[in-house]
Amino acid sequence: MKVKPNYYPSLLLLFFILFTACNTTTEQSAPSLAVEILEKAHTEFKEKSITHRRFKHADLQPLIEKHSDQFKITSLGTSIEGRSISSLDWGKGETKVMLWSQMHGNESTATMALFDIFNFLEGDSDEYQELRTILRERLTLKFIPMINPDGAEEFKRRNALDIDLNRDAISQISPEAIILKEARDNFEPEFGFNLHDQQTYYNAEGTAKQATISVLAPAYNEATDINEVRKRAMQTIVGMNKVLQQIVPGHVGKYNDAFEPRAFGDNIQKWGTSTILIESGGYPNDPEKQFIRQLNFMIILEALHQIAIESYTQYSVDEYFSIPDNDLQLVDLLIHEAQVRVGEKLYPMDLGIRRRQSTSGSTYYSSSSIDDLGDLQVYFGLEELDASNMLITEGKVYPEVFESLSDLDQDRAMDLLREGFLAVKVENNSEGELHGLPILVLSSSDTFSWGWKTGSVPNFFLSKGNQLKFAVVNGYLIDLENPKEQEFKQRIY
Ligand SMILES: [Zn+2]
Repeated sequence: MKVKPNYYPSLLLLFFILFTACNTTTEQSAPSLAVEILEKAHTEFKEKSITHRRFKHADLQPLIEKHSDQFKITSLGTSIEGRSISSLDWGKGETKVMLWSQMHGNESTATMALFDIFNFLEGDSDEYQELRTILRERLTLKFIPMINPDGAEEFKRRNALDIDLNRDAISQISPEAIILKEARDNFEPEFGFNLHDQQTYYNAEGTAKQATISVLAPAYNEATDINEVRKRAMQTIVGMNKVLQQIVPGHVGKYNDAFEPRAFGDNIQKWGTSTILIESGGYPNDPEKQFIRQLNFMIILEALHQIAIESYTQYSVDEYFSIPDNDLQLVDLLIHEAQVRVGEKLYPMDLGIRRRQSTSGSTYYSSSSIDDLGDLQVYFGLEELDASNMLITEGKVYPEVFESLSDLDQDRAMDLLREGFLAVKVENNSEGELHGLPILVLSSSDTFSWGWKTGSVPNFFLSKGNQLKFAVVNGYLIDLENPKEQEFKQRIY
């Protein structure tokens, strides 16, 4: 970055530091944007036409067009299947910042936040105008939302060549990778934001808390050295983390910084752009990631503000390294010490169950499996059950056939479960249709698979004496005595 003259907002910053240094009652030591202001701004400027994660390229085009007055829109080229990839430029400042999202087609959280930010930046004459003016005067922003529109079309990671774009920074086999690299080379940004989603099973190391946001200042060489370029990225991340800790304390993880020679983040860092990776993970009861979208909006604005007023400079590399590491030790359901009968003997087993999501139209269904069993004390469950003294018990298919799904409801399904039936058969609905019942629904099949070994589908009861206590249906835990409210994302088999 070039050296800048010392002008008004830097003075403002200085006063702020002096003020907070003298005022021992305040905990805030850096000029962060107030969390309440950021939250309010998101509520006001959220792009309301995007309501879930599985939007497509066609959904975004009218939204890009909507911003053509205040943003400079440039067509950068097209994907393998001919979908346009555009950049949106805003601001007239000296410091250039580039933000790109969704190079993995099923990682759409930050794309939603970028469209919220476009709305925010277009606002006028309101309480945020001072912030907007600082950003406009100090920064030139280049946004490239949805780098992989073909992957997004199918909500899958890779592009239409089945290439992982994040391993194509050097070989440049894919047009999408060429577009991203050319954009960086032509623009030569001082800062870059590489926006992704990660599995929801990442936790902050040593804790049961989901890594709702994970961060990384990628390495630019094998030795993972820290130069000025990488240091700036680390400092900016520290400021972002300070905002996150106020909203989702403990829910931030830091990625391992092993150098990946083919990845964009690592190479863009190497090419001289201070690069910040943001990975959106999971948060309880946020399957469509609308809360995490808001977090993205907030921390990106915070980071842009820091870059604009250069307040990131007061954070240290040590503070960056004190962010907990990411770990991958979460499961959806952890059952402790269920008894498994093999021959005449009983064995106590911890069972680790994950419910993976498969896309169906604009929504998804869950397909569960037992990922590990035995002594699982190193795992954390998003939901846990102490099943010591409970026996894993096989369920049955209800012998009478229902005409259709509409003959069933939540209460009827619960009654059937209590009678020992884990599955029902329907005549007029077909395999693959989605439903939200707490029981298995069969159409083309007469039986269901189940088991307790790795890879098995967790469909069974947990019983105590002769009493059925819990049902586990496609990995969903159902308390038969005191069922709680929960959403079942199921399909007919
Ligand atoms: Zn990714």
